[in-house]
Amino acid sequence: MTRKIELFRRDKTLERLPIEEREKQMGKKLQHLVKYAYQNAPGFKERLDKAGVRPGDIRNTKDLEKIPVLRKDDLVRLQKENPPFGGYLAVPISDLERIYQSPGPIYDPQRRPMASDYPPDFGKGQVVMNTWSYHITPAGLGIDQMLRDMGCTVFPAGTGNTELQVQVMHDLKVAGFVGTPSFLATIIKKAEERGYDFKKDFNLRWAMVSGEMGGDLLRKMFQEKYGIFCLGGDSYITADLGRIASSCDKNIGMHVGTDVIVEIVDAATGKVLGPNEIGEIVVTPFDEVYPLIRFGTGDISSLIVEPCTCGRTTPRLPKIMGRVGDAVRVRAMFVYPRQTDEIVSRFPEIAAYQLVVTRPENRDEMVMYVELTGELDDREKWLESLDKDFRNVCKARFDKVEFVARGTIPAGEKRIIDKRVYY
Ligand SMILES: [Zn+2]
Repeated sequence: MTRKIELFRRDKTLERLPIEEREKQMGKKLQHLVKYAYQNAPGFKERLDKAGVRPGDIRNTKDLEKIPVLRKDDLVRLQKENPPFGGYLAVPISDLERIYQSPGPIYDPQRRPMASDYPPDFGKGQVVMNTWSYHITPAGLGIDQMLRDMGCTVFPAGTGNTELQVQVMHDLKVAGFVGTPSFLATIIKKAEERGYDFKKDFNLRWAMVSGEMGGDLLRKMFQEKYGIFCLGGDSYITADLGRIASSCDKNIGMHVGTDVIVEIVDAATGKVLGPNEIGEIVVTPFDEVYPLIRFGTGDISSLIVEPCTCGRTTPRLPKIMGRVGDAVRVRAMFVYPRQTDEIVSRFPEIAAYQLVVTRPENRDEMVMYVELTGELDDREKWLESLDKDFRNVCKARFDKVEFVARGTIPAGEKRIIDKRVYY
């Protein structure tokens, strides 16, 4: 018997409520969740007791800050000490339908079914190929369930074996593909190598592709060259927490689901940061099976709080900018390689770069070493716009740029190097 405990399904009306109204409702659900978890998950009770926080102290989402962040490393350790779930499972293990394992290793109980974001009749009666992995990790089975709920007929393809996938996609007249954009590109390429005209000989009409950075170019290619309609944009999904955010058709950031609370915190102190400030994503899922309250994902982003033009008022994550360990803190601001890559991509004249942080006379100094592809027309103007973009994106500035000869910066080296010595 599977007990379906669902405190909070994806609620479409909540997404469009005035922000304050939603906060109020989320606060009520949170009070309930914290009390429930305190009574049923001994690991959570211990964490709260240790921090001197009582369940009654958490009355709204702002109060969450009182609870120490649960790091992934903590969870690995807790699970080792107290297997399999480290005292965080709030139901008997026999109530679970499935158990997964994600890298760590961490055991994950199956809980919330993933709700579809698509119109009720979308995909109904069509054959869909699901190329997410079906074993150990939750992606394959979770999406399989969602597709079947949508009324699709699923071919559980799993990963790998491209030859077979091409054959099946052709023979079954597969209409929908689910998986990574790069795997779909591989399948198309393989089909073309075998002499097929993909657009004519195959029936693929739509693809639900995610899970990779920079999938936008491939999505564009699928749509324009092959007429494959690409559903949704980016999603932010983790093995521990499931889907946290996904983009709307405006595609300006990923909307945080109404079944989670997302905070952006200073990874060093756990302090909550303001809108647009960059820090670690900390997630509280409304989940009574496995209440990982204030789970530190180790991923870096910020929150856009202005309502979206699509009508939703939920906060958005612009994108995932990196992992906590990748950042270098310079004069109290974190600088991430993803940010600097983004800036540099706007300057085609840069062939390679590296930021080096040193600490002469007890003061942080950041020098940007740059290899150029050729001569610059107006060096002053160019440096000015580089400086401006850098300040805008990183909220920090470099002290100077040093131009170095081509081949000076070793390929594959870190883009930001911390060489500071503290006395
Ligand atoms: Zn939107």
